[in-house]
Amino acid sequence: MQLFAEVNPVYSHADLMQPDFQSIIDNHKVLDEKLKAVFASYMALAPAEKTQIQQAYSNNNNIEQICNNTIRPVKFAELPVCIQDPLKALYGSKGALYQMLTAKDNYDEVKNRCGSLKGHFEKFREENPISVCPFCGMENLITEYEEGKNEYDHYLSKNDYPFCSINFNNLTPICDICNKPGYKGQKDIPFQPTTNPQIQDELYYPYSTAYPGHVIDLKINSTTTNLKDVDDWTLSIDCTPTGNVQKKNRWLEIYNIESRYKGKIAGDSYQWKDRIVSKHVLRCKRKGIPFDDFKEDILDDFATPLKWNNGILMKCFYEFIMNDPNCEANLNGTIF
Ligand SMILES: [Zn+2]
Repeated sequence: MQLFAEVNPVYSHADLMQPDFQSIIDNHKVLDEKLKAVFASYMALAPAEKTQIQQAYSNNNNIEQICNNTIRPVKFAELPVCIQDPLKALYGSKGALYQMLTAKDNYDEVKNRCGSLKGHFEKFREENPISVCPFCGMENLITEYEEGKNEYDHYLSKNDYPFCSINFNNLTPICDICNKPGYKGQKDIPFQPTTNPQIQDELYYPYSTAYPGHVIDLKINSTTTNLKDVDDWTLSIDCTPTGNVQKKNRWLEIYNIESRYKGKIAGDSYQWKDRIVSKHVLRCKRKGIPFDDFKEDILDDFATPLKWNNGILMKCFYEFIMNDPNCEANLNGTIF
């Protein structure tokens, strides 16, 4: 899009849009009107204000550097007042561009030109064969073989930031829980909402390939295997390498991770414990398999925890149980 390039002082979407989009705009008059309003507001700005818009457009589409805190994103409210409303009508949460992608009206035209969102989701799932939500590791994602798709979350909120509402580097499949208000929802994630909303922080960039070997380490700290009361025990959530600790801490805050993980462990760990007890009866007591072999086998079940919903939580629970020096005695007795 050449909306701010001033290739022609008179509005013409033929000059402003790539050829693939011309027929979409021809058939989508609402979008054409919103583009025209932005163009008119932009052309009336002073040169310094135009530069500000161009900089904001560039910054807000560089999602990776925003996440690394090397570029500052620009909010609607920071732009010249006269262009804020036209930009929201084009790029905002109810804006014409997003409506064009998601609404039934004229959607067939977009689908014929660019493919469907469902088609994009199926391709995404084919190329990213993980089974769980990439933000929590708890909920299953819909497979490419099922009907429907998971929602695409705007990592940088479309309510706060212009220009990146249809940038696919800013759109990520997410589970329903993570996407709810109170979890990530519409949080303004580049900034610290609870401590200082002016200070930008580092974030994980969802499409980064720069985290080789990055691991989240979970550890249950408890003197008893009864974890039903979440106030009786703690969960350590660390990361290696530790250079990403600021990103990790923001992730914990944004997705309300610690209380979700503790709640799931408190609610389901008795079932996970039953599984260990029944497997111990079958393998050690009936088949005579040595305890150390049994332990190795159990710990190996979740060696690749992201293949299973809640696998990361079951992995840390199994490590907590099986690495207890009294585990074998407990399993052979009745106090487990
Ligand atoms: Zn999730």
